[in-house]
Amino acid sequence: MKIKNHLFENIKILSSPNYDLRPKNAKISLIVLHSISLPPTIFGNRYVEDFFCNKIKSSEEKYINDIKDMKVSAHLYIKRDGEIIQFVSFDKRAWHAGKSSYENVENCNDYSIGIELEGCDDISYEDIQYEKLVEVIKTLLKNYSHLSKDRILSHSDIAPGRKSDPGPLFDWKRLERMLK
Ligand SMILES: [Zn+2]
Repeated sequence: MKIKNHLFENIKILSSPNYDLRPKNAKISLIVLHSISLPPTIFGNRYVEDFFCNKIKSSEEKYINDIKDMKVSAHLYIKRDGEIIQFVSFDKRAWHAGKSSYENVENCNDYSIGIELEGCDDISYEDIQYEKLVEVIKTLLKNYSHLSKDRILSHSDIAPGRKSDPGPLFDWKRLERMLK
C-alpha cells in the first residue's frame, strides 16, 4: 500500500466532514484501534459509512436514530470482507477517541490515527481484517516517523471505564506476531 498526500492510494475515500486541524506541533505518534457496527453486532450494511459522513437522516432502528446526529469519524475503517475505507486525511484530526489520554497527554485525537474495525466486543474478527490491518499499520509506520509498534493502543486503553473496544476478542498477540 502507498500513501500520497496523507491518503492511501487505491482505496475507497469517503470524505467525512467530521474533522478539524491538529494542533500546531502535534506529532502523529499513536495508533488507536476501535470497533464499530451499526446496529451493534450487525455487519455488512452501509450505516457506518453513512454515520461517519453525517448521511443518516432517519432509521427504523432505534439505536441508529439515537446516535445519528453525533459528529464522529475515524481515519480508516476495515470491513469484515477486508475492504478499507478512508474518511479523513492523516494530517487532519479525526474525531474518534473522545475524552482520552495516554502517558498524561490528553486528547488523543490531537496526535493519533484512528482505525475502526467492523466488529463488536463479543464476535471474533476476521482473518482478512488482521491481514489488512497489518498492511495498513506497516505502511503508516513507514510514512510517519513518530509512530511505532509499541504505540498501538485500544480505545479502551486511552478511555478506560468509558470504552471497551475493540474488545476482549481482539487478538493483540496475533497482531504483534504479524507485525514482526
Ligand atoms: Zn472506539
